[in-house]
Amino acid sequence: MDVVVLGGGVIGTTTAYYLAQRGAKVTVIDRQPGPAMETSFANAGQVSPGYSTPWAAPGIPLKALKWLFQAHAPLRIRPDGSLYQWQWLAAMLANCTQARYVQNKARMMRLAEYSRDCLRELRSGVDLRYEHRTGGTLQLFRSAAQLDAAERDVAVLAELGVAHQLLTRTQLTQHEPALARSAVPLAGGLRLPNDETGDCFLFTQQLAAAARELGVRFRFNARIDRLETRGEQLTGVIVDGERIATTQCVLALGSYSRPMLQALGLDLPVYPVKGYSLTVPLTRPEAAPVSTVLDETFKVALTRFDQRLRVGGMAELAGFDLALRESRRATLEKVVKDLFPEAGDLSAATFWTGLRPLTPDGTPVVGPTRYQGLWLNTGHGTLGWTMACGSGRVLADQVCGLAPDIDTEGLALARYARPARSASRPQLGMARRRQA
Ligand SMILES: Cc1cc2nc3c(=O)[nH]c(=O)nc-3n(C[C@H](O)[C@H](O)[C@H](O)COP(=O)(O)OP(=O)(O)OC[C@H]3O[C@@H](n4cnc5c(N)ncnc54)[C@H](O)[C@@H]3O)c2cc1C
Repeated sequence: MDVVVLGGGVIGTTTAYYLAQRGAKVTVIDRQPGPAMETSFANAGQVSPGYSTPWAAPGIPLKALKWLFQAHAPLRIRPDGSLYQWQWLAAMLANCTQARYVQNKARMMRLAEYSRDCLRELRSGVDLRYEHRTGGTLQLFRSAAQLDAAERDVAVLAELGVAHQLLTRTQLTQHEPALARSAVPLAGGLRLPNDETGDCFLFTQQLAAAARELGVRFRFNARIDRLETRGEQLTGVIVDGERIATTQCVLALGSYSRPMLQALGLDLPVYPVKGYSLTVPLTRPEAAPVSTVLDETFKVALTRFDQRLRVGGMAELAGFDLALRESRRATLEKVVKDLFPEAGDLSAATFWTGLRPLTPDGTPVVGPTRYQGLWLNTGHGTLGWTMACGSGRVLADQVCGLAPDIDTEGLALARYARPARSASRPQLGMARRRQA
């Protein structure tokens, strides 16, 4: 079977690898000169099924209001001039009920836990070197109130069978010794020992090389203009004005997936949520974290690579804006100075921004569409690195007519379908035709 994969980020590349492993003849197309050059380039490095939680959660609307008035707030909204931005926000807020939160989190955890297991299996068969560590992750609380609030998360983790440890202030340094040098008082933490860390860019580059060995062809520096259909069948892709005939295609264009599908009347509710990262060269490795530390106050994650510290976080709803804002760099630097003040050379750090393809319910869109042969693997938002291997494998199984290892309930675009004669579901109001 011939399959064209659109997008060579971490999602497209994992999909291509698993498709080739199942015997498909795969071509990956991307506008960049190599794999993982856009959102998968410099993310925060966490492979964290334990934190696989939708943004849309009870209590978020109130928190978001407070953040609007804080200097180092994790969230910013800058009107992008579109009605869609507000419709997407409204759909996100509609998912903040307890019932939807539980449903969305369960879907995300199902995929994320499977994905971590797929990553481990992949690593045992392919020599992948991406500065990974298996030391778990640590959510850090600066205040007693945050520690108390974590009790609710602990109850959810226990219910879902996720291994975890609630740590007192004095226990923090048993796992992250460099926190003894912290410049601010700390209250405690929540450790998830089964989480992993690693550089998503290095992983994707290396997996692309392994995919090439399985016969995958990568076509870089190629702009995908549009998809071509006849009736309800996919028939081709137009790339740099040239038609490529295909009847099987996986769309993995990250934040750019929505505009590509709009021309076909498919309403994919993905919004580009901007984040920032700093990559800091280490000068004193013993003063740096050994794994990931997530500062709950600023929602900033600090991940240890071999000789670098990756510091990532923040969310801006500002459309397809890739400007590097110095105020955001100041927030990332503040967190480093607070927690690991002696670790690295901030003046030599690299500042980066990327657009997370986020759905209003936090769950990615993995599965078929109503067009025969057009498959989606996109909308992974804050957790694309965490969910990449599982999503790629589930979709490759579906394309090849195999039964996926996990239940695919609630993963496909069909979950946004407008139910006949019902106004009870949140809709983005953009869809004119029945989805999927
Ligand atoms: C600051 C930050 C921190 C993050 N931290 C984490 C983390 O710790 N853990 C985690 O799990 N996730 C994290 N994420 C999220 C994760 O990085 C994303 O979910 C993931 O990279 C999305 O991968 P993707 O392949 O879908 O998108 P991308 O990597 O953006 O890939 C899409 C590809 O499509 C190509 N493309 C788009 N349009 C066209 C076109 N018209 N023609 C040709 N090519 C096209 C692009 O060139 C790109 O290569 C973070 C994100 C950010 C921004």
